[in-house]
Amino acid sequence: MTPLHYLDAMPLAYPPFKSCPCGSGRSYGACCGPAHDGSRPPATPETLMRARYTAYALGNVPFVLNTWHASTRPSTLDLNDGTRYVGLRVHAAAGETVDFTASLKLPGGERYSFRERSRFEQVGGQWVYVAGEEVEG
Ligand SMILES: [Zn+2]
Repeated sequence: MTPLHYLDAMPLAYPPFKSCPCGSGRSYGACCGPAHDGSRPPATPETLMRARYTAYALGNVPFVLNTWHASTRPSTLDLNDGTRYVGLRVHAAAGETVDFTASLKLPGGERYSFRERSRFEQVGGQWVYVAGEEVEG
């Protein structure tokens, strides 16, 4: 049996040919995968927003924290609480903001979705997430 601490340390491997969890309709290898493995840093706030959503969905804590502005980044993040990320819709992306709805399935089984306008900023040439405000959907 694989020790659990080993699993915790590794982002979940996701097959590149499978459809990307962000719902783009493209494969993971052609969509958010290159952002996660560092081969192609997100060029726009929307690309980063999708890659962060997919990182939440796959339990990739390092990616989520590394793309979070230092001024608003939490010191720890638990993505193993049983929440499942079941859908993303991007409504609009303009300038430094992305307006989206994310759908979750909470550990208790109930569905929950929220609409948020996220704000991004470039730091050292890389887009990072700064903060989000909930939008009436
Ligand atoms: Zn994607």
